[in-house]
Amino acid sequence: MYRIPKQYRDLRRHIFFTDLRRICLFVLWIAIFVASAIFYNYNHQTYADDRRIVGWRLVALIVFAVVTGFFLFRLWKFFTDRTYSGTIEFAGLTHTYTQSDEPYGFKPMSYAERTNTKLTVITKKQKKRRLRFEQKIGSYWYYADGQRIVHFHGCPYPINLDPTAPHGYICVACGRMHDRYIDECEYCYLSLIDPKVLAEEE
Ligand SMILES: [Zn+2]
Repeated sequence: MYRIPKQYRDLRRHIFFTDLRRICLFVLWIAIFVASAIFYNYNHQTYADDRRIVGWRLVALIVFAVVTGFFLFRLWKFFTDRTYSGTIEFAGLTHTYTQSDEPYGFKPMSYAERTNTKLTVITKKQKKRRLRFEQKIGSYWYYADGQRIVHFHGCPYPINLDPTAPHGYICVACGRMHDRYIDECEYCYLSLIDPKVLAEEE
């Protein structure tokens, strides 16, 4: 099983705090709903129970908070975004549109097109996984069918471990490519993972 090697402590910390922030926001979200219910009930003490947030109404409110919070703070990532290694079955492209201040081409005003890399990966346990992430300069040639990659939980960009992989170092957090190995990414300042270190750990 792969893990982010110990020497890239800042990267581990970055993922840990991103996860922690997600959980804290989720808990806070639910707490706001519960606090509002308590506040409402406190201010309407003379009301009959069917006009206060008690019993099934309180349960429904909490369920609503949990379900919306689960999607709002992307808690599903804890279940779907696992660390794994596998072989790329298919590497392709998709497009998405995001709002932009600088419209161009024939697209509707104020929308910009983004190109995403789409990977279908077969893991060692023969499970099919899909990854999609925005393309950054230099990363379009980095992935190809049949190559072996490692994807880390919390990092959108997988590392190519294949002997036939094109030369280059990708930042797992922001996706920028680097021609030569340097300690930290020039854009987000997080550690660059050297594929050699991963191969040694294996
Ligand atoms: Zn980076």
